[in-house]
Amino acid sequence: MAGENRIKVLFVSAEVAPFAKTGGLADVAAALPKELALMGVDVRVVMPRYKMINSDMEYVTDFAVQIGSKKETCVVRKEIPNNESKDGEISVPVYFIDSYNYYDRPGIYCYFDDAERFAFLCKAALEMLPRINFKPDIIHCNDWHTGPICMLLNEVYRDNAFYRDMATIYTIHNLEYQGNFSGDVLSLFNIGYEIFNSEKVEFYGMFSFMKAGLVYADIINTVSNEYAKEIQTERYGEKMEGILKKRSDDLFGIVNGISYKEFDPEKDPRIYRNYNSQSYKLKKDNKYALQRELGLPVKDVPVIGLVSRLSEQKGLELLLDKFEDLMKEDIQFVLLGTGDEHYETSFKNAKISYPEKVGVYIGFNTDLAQRIYAGCDMFLMPSRFEPCGLGQIISLRYGTIPIVRATGGLADTIVDYNADNVNGNGFVFYEFSSDEMFDAIKRALKLYNESPDTWASLVRRALTLDFSWSKPAKKYIELYERAIRKRV
Ligand code: ADP
Repeated sequence: MAGENRIKVLFVSAEVAPFAKTGGLADVAAALPKELALMGVDVRVVMPRYKMINSDMEYVTDFAVQIGSKKETCVVRKEIPNNESKDGEISVPVYFIDSYNYYDRPGIYCYFDDAERFAFLCKAALEMLPRINFKPDIIHCNDWHTGPICMLLNEVYRDNAFYRDMATIYTIHNLEYQGNFSGDVLSLFNIGYEIFNSEKVEFYGMFSFMKAGLVYADIINTVSNEYAKEIQTERYGEKMEGILKKRSDDLFGIVNGISYKEFDPEKDPRIYRNYNSQSYKLKKDNKYALQRELGLPVKDVPVIGLVSRLSEQKGLELLLDKFEDLMKEDIQFVLLGTGDEHYETSFKNAKISYPEKVGVYIGFNTDLAQRIYAGCDMFLMPSRFEPCGLGQIISLRYGTIPIVRATGGLADTIVDYNADNVNGNGFVFYEFSSDEMFDAIKRALKLYNESPDTWASLVRRALTLDFSWSKPAKKYIELYERAIRKRV
């Protein structure tokens, strides 16, 4: 792809690492555009400028955005990349939508006016385009915050020649979060109520940001093949299965990658000792350093880690259900997470009950996360559902063996070692049951304790697997081409 033939993409996301992150969306929004740029795509990223973002940036333009009956000022800024970009990494332009009224607050989500805050993002991202002289072939929208861009384009902006041929891709990173608000939110977009019906954006009496994406996008995708199938069923469809089934010809799955530069056990400055598939034995020093950091006895027992949002999705009740049994094993367990208060309390109490075996850090700490990925032997993800899951992929990258429930992206990425000892890269259970989970943990512990050489070969295998973005990014380019074909 060169010169005029380059595909032009505007990538819109509510979070992009390292600027603002609550979960996997931020990792994807940081790494996928970089890989696309390496492959010749002219990609620009746009996100809100939240208060916590203090990177160097320059003023680009400002304009007023009509939000219902108000006009709100949007200032567009652009990151000034520092010159220390990692070797081989290309820098992608990142635009920030700055609004004192909407984004100058300490957090990212969960404000009373989130509907208005993200309606503003959708409109501002579209309005900015002619002003920065960028006419994308594709607008790549991500999760509920950006769904209405697809609606705005079809209902309003296509009348303007500048926008006429733009195609949209809408990526579902998590169907659970839908952005459903009262119907009068539609007026923020200055669109008539004739589209407030169940064929379009009405969802059980609410205006749904997610549905606005699902109905109007040219192409929909989600972040694994298994989740693409699951969300068309009642069990996983979060009541959107009807519209998803209807659009199944336009619905695809692409398993996420991770940045092999950001997550690199050989170079990661955040971990205690670097290692690779040859020097994998050094990994153990990271275990001892992690034990010291978390105040645990320093010894060579299997350490099971968990880094996660503490939400119902993550299946933590299976773990809590079996916690006492787990504590009878000769292991240590470390957890980093933040989220629902009852999980936070339960794990803090677990630490109090088992101070010699349990390390708990409640909070968000990306540096400690890396030390857990590097320092543990096993990584637990007993998810109820998991669109893709990055934890299991990052842990493989650090030679830490995942124990997962086979759902969504966990089913696509982890092969059970006991079922297939040639390709196995983890331990898998199927039913959402604490007994099955505990059985998978015990299978992992047995191999670790009784067959250290085999365990070592599993670790080495994990360290050589390729879950980088290069393959998935090619699939995104194919989706872009498909979406463009739908528009001509
Ligand atoms: P989700 O997007 O559902 O939260 P993923 O597994 O896709 O789950 O991505 C989670 C990402 O967020 C990973 O990069 C993980 O390391 C990171 N993460 C989750 N919780 C924390 C935390 N408390 N501190 C630091 N990083 C975290």
